[in-house]
Amino acid sequence: MPFAYDAQNIFARILRGEIPNKTVLETAHTLAFHDIQPQAPVHVLVIPKGSYASYDHFAAEASDAEIVDFNRTVAEVCRMTGVHLGEGGQGFRAITNAGEHGVQEVPHYHLHILGGRPLGRMLARSES
Ligand code: 5GP
Repeated sequence: MPFAYDAQNIFARILRGEIPNKTVLETAHTLAFHDIQPQAPVHVLVIPKGSYASYDHFAAEASDAEIVDFNRTVAEVCRMTGVHLGEGGQGFRAITNAGEHGVQEVPHYHLHILGGRPLGRMLARSES
């Protein structure tokens, strides 16, 4: 079962309204909210409302409507937080961690949008 989903994970609980969040944007299929431990001046998590454990799970099994909605939400979050490349934004990094090697902490697919300062290299060379 490659895509087992744990319905008790913290983001599932946020989606059910059991835990509060600082929402940036909510759409039909997607929720974007501020990370509780921001690693940069802008650190927003974008998650699908559907029960997808990881990016590959989402990419393989989400509907076209969910995938389009998710990606349009990412674009809008970048615009709203001022990190988008148009009109003076200075850029961002979008990261998703998956599984053990990806060091994924919360097993509900989420995309980190980080920006607001220079972010350095993507990976330290010593970690290769
Ligand atoms: P991962 O390591 O799974 O890619 O990232 C999980 C992220 O979720 C971390 O950056 C962590 O700070 C964030 N996080 C964990 N619990 C909560 C929470 O209850 N609320 C919010 N807003 N973020 C959380």
